[in-house]
Amino acid sequence: MDKNQLDNAIRCGQEFLASYAGPKAGTRPYQLLERLFENATRRTGPDTFEFTWKDIAEPADHEDEGKQLKRNLSTAIQRWAGHTDALSELAIDSGSSCIPVIEQLTQGAGAGIMNRYIIRTAPARSDLQCDKADIPAGYIRYTLEMVDGPNWVGRLVNGLAAKGWVWRSMIGTIVAAVTCACFMIYLGLLALVLEKTAFGLIKALIDVLIVLAALYFTFSPLYYCVTRRIIKASFLMTPLDLQSTQLEYVETGQKHSSGRPIRQFRLVSYSATCQLCKARVEIENGRWRMWGRLVGRCDYNPQEHVYSFDYTTRLGRLIYPEYIMLADTGYCSKINDEKLPSASSANDTNFRDSQGLTAEGCVADVQNGG
Ligand SMILES: [Zn+2]
Repeated sequence: MDKNQLDNAIRCGQEFLASYAGPKAGTRPYQLLERLFENATRRTGPDTFEFTWKDIAEPADHEDEGKQLKRNLSTAIQRWAGHTDALSELAIDSGSSCIPVIEQLTQGAGAGIMNRYIIRTAPARSDLQCDKADIPAGYIRYTLEMVDGPNWVGRLVNGLAAKGWVWRSMIGTIVAAVTCACFMIYLGLLALVLEKTAFGLIKALIDVLIVLAALYFTFSPLYYCVTRRIIKASFLMTPLDLQSTQLEYVETGQKHSSGRPIRQFRLVSYSATCQLCKARVEIENGRWRMWGRLVGRCDYNPQEHVYSFDYTTRLGRLIYPEYIMLADTGYCSKINDEKLPSASSANDTNFRDSQGLTAEGCVADVQNGG
């Protein structure tokens, strides 16, 4: 490992932080990461950057003996690990092969011995190697982020491998739910025959519908995740600070004795940048003709800037033809480059409103020959 390699990795980390507009962007852990990389650029050692909280503290941090800083640092390290894929893509795009990793090196032992931390380089994930020039024209590329700190419902499912008793329980649960639903339908049909009064019939049918709906909403995500491989995660699993998370059913690399791949559940968050307005694109359930599919919706204009989503190629394409045409003209990117704020401030609706620079405005201009 040489200084150049770490310098490249640190630059990659700084570039990522400068453009990051995802959940909790700009919060104290991310501000601390910026400070940390700034400190790392000024290091004198050649290969790694080792530090304690005092090395990166500012005068205000000493007021509480660095307690707040240490908490932020712990959160920052946890969140940084969730950005490995995004960092790998960024590193590869800029011709580098390594990313910066932040770890706790040693545990403090009281009596003034402090925790030591380190920034070192790690190889970028080569399976994400994708030359930007190879991405077909008109497509956006999604980036995967692991969901760190899922709530307790998410923790029950995240990383659960479908093998042994887990696999048998899953099959048993789905079979039990389907059997229960069939039984409720049978009871509903029986009520049609046996109930003598209209009130009794309506009450029985409502009871049946409530139980069927409860069964569907409780157990269908499990079934759909297993059969579709990826679904929008339930709000019960989504941390409050994340708008959209997905539950994937991915291969672990191991195999059952039958040769069938063992899969596991994984809570993730895919996002991309909108071609039209540079805002963040997040994954949602499709509506109308996109029913049953996942789509990417732009945070700034979720109704119109809608993209297809493929988690295997991580690529997506605008769905509505008028916007495909618009993106192909490069009109909006020209407008974005010249007048719009950077991606990190693309959600500043006041700015856009004050400038009259909406994507609809772009469409109207193009259609009017402007
Ligand atoms: Zn957009």
